[in-house]
This record gives sequence, structure tokens and C-alpha cells, in this order.
Amino acid sequence: MLKVNVLTIFPELFPGFLGSSLTGRALEEKKVELNAINIRDYALDKHKSVDDTPCGGGAGMIMRPDVLGRAIDANHSKGRIIYMSPRGKSLTQAKAKELSKEEELTIICGRFEGIDERIIEAYNIEEISIGDYILTGGEQAALIMLDAVIRLLPGVLGNEASIEDESFENNLLEYPQYTRPIEWEGRTVPEVLLSGHHKNIEEWRKQMAEATTKDKRPDLYKIYLESKKS
Ligand code: SAH
Repeated sequence: MLKVNVLTIFPELFPGFLGSSLTGRALEEKKVELNAINIRDYALDKHKSVDDTPCGGGAGMIMRPDVLGRAIDANHSKGRIIYMSPRGKSLTQAKAKELSKEEELTIICGRFEGIDERIIEAYNIEEISIGDYILTGGEQAALIMLDAVIRLLPGVLGNEASIEDESFENNLLEYPQYTRPIEWEGRTVPEVLLSGHHKNIEEWRKQMAEATTKDKRPDLYKIYLESKKS
């Protein structure tokens, strides 16, 4: 079982959409334990303040290291501590897989202008971004990252084989998919998929995955070609 501690000032945002569908079932079946911890509970003053103005001036507020430190110490027992941050390395399928093998994850969700740098240093925190844009808070990013991680936990996806064929496996995007009706508004399903000839289907899918990747994601296609060489 994966234990996840999420440190947030909006615990009511959890489990959010993770409570539905496959991830919802994973939570119910205790394949993952999700604890949303209110950082404000670790503020000592009577106003329960978790933030203060930036040293050196400038707009916005910064989350305090003392309050965050207490929240971490009280809840994190082992494993990685992650800060959702636009400065972090981009979340990838490979990273999601890596995280799905951990026993415990502690995730800090920033708000305002972010968190005091000393927390990142003191706890050797890994920063992860979900893309080159700015959100209002780390909660949204944490939910997306956890969705990607939880679906990879053993037994969460009904058909385990579906993981192996997906986009980003082997640095390729998925081949085009079709279902019934075989003819729709004058468009038919590619002949080969109706042939029942598994080897030809497999070959066609590989070619289409390569062509799709080359067309839609030339950057990824380059990595694919390089990885094939080695
Ligand atoms: N001033 C910061 C942005 C703060 S946004 C900067 O310029 O880097 C507020 C919070 O939202 C951040 O602390 C972080 O936890 C979260 N956040 C915003 N964008 C994100 C992204 N792309 N990926 C992950 N977390 C993000």
C-alpha cells in the first residue's frame, strides 16, 4: 500500500476527483492511503498564519519555514518529500512509475508566491512541475500527479496489459484506436484491424505509433530514435 501525506492549507480539495472512478476504487480498497493534512494546524499564533511577506520586498506572500517544518516533522515518517513547483522537473510517465513504487510520499502544496527556500534545502526536497505555466496552488498539481501514480499501482487498472501499450511507453505515442460501428459517416475502420491477423495488426500499430509520434511530437520521436540505437 502507498501512503501519501499531502500538506495543504485546503485539505477539503482532497481526494477531489481522485475519489471517483479507478482512483476512487483504489482509495476504497486501501491500495492507497491519502492523508490531507492542514498546514494551518501547525501555526502557533492565534491567527494561525502560515505565510508572511517576502524578505527583500516584492508582491505576494511566502509560506513560512517554521510552520511547514512542524507539519513535515509531525507527519512524514520516511520516503521522499516532494514540493509541487513550477521550478521543478516536469512530471513524466517515467517519474510517475518511479513514484508508484514508493511506500510513502509526502507532498507539499504551495500557495501564494510559494515557500521559503530554506525548507527545500533543509529537507532535501524534490521539486516537481506539471508544466510550464503557473497555477494558483500546488493542490491541483498534486491531484494530477497522484492520479498518474495511483493508476499505476498494482491491481488498480483492470487490464494490466493496457499500461504496456500506452503513450510514452518506449518513448512513443499510442497508435490510433477504433471501435464500432465499423462504418461511421462514410469513414471506415482500417482494413487490417478487421483482418484478425495479429502479427499484421501489431506491425501496423507499431508503424502508426511511430508515424503519430513523428508528426505530433518530433521532440519525443528524436528520443525514441536515439533509444532504439542504444
Ligand atoms: N511565484 C512562484 C509561483 C507560485 S504559484 C513562481 O514564480 O515560481 C503558487 C503555488 O502553486 C506554488 O507554490 C506551487 O506549489 C503551485 N504551482 C504553480 N504552478 C505549478 C506547476 N506548474 N507545477 C506544480 N506546481 C505548481
